[in-house]
Amino acid sequence: MAVPRNRKSNSRKHTKRSHMAKDALQFNSCKNCHKPRIPHRACSHCGFYNGKQVFSKDEA
Ligand SMILES: [Zn+2]
Repeated sequence: MAVPRNRKSNSRKHTKRSHMAKDALQFNSCKNCHKPRIPHRACSHCGFYNGKQVFSKDEA
């Protein structure tokens, strides 16, 4: 296992962690019902993905 040669100062540690923050979820609008939808996920409102119905609301 690699061993760090030098200790990272507190400010350098925080510099690294400044990039680790989780950012807010992105939303696109659904092409079928125009409600906000997470990209690369089926729409939770109407169950459409890529122009096709992949699940129905009452089924889930
Ligand atoms: Zn939809």
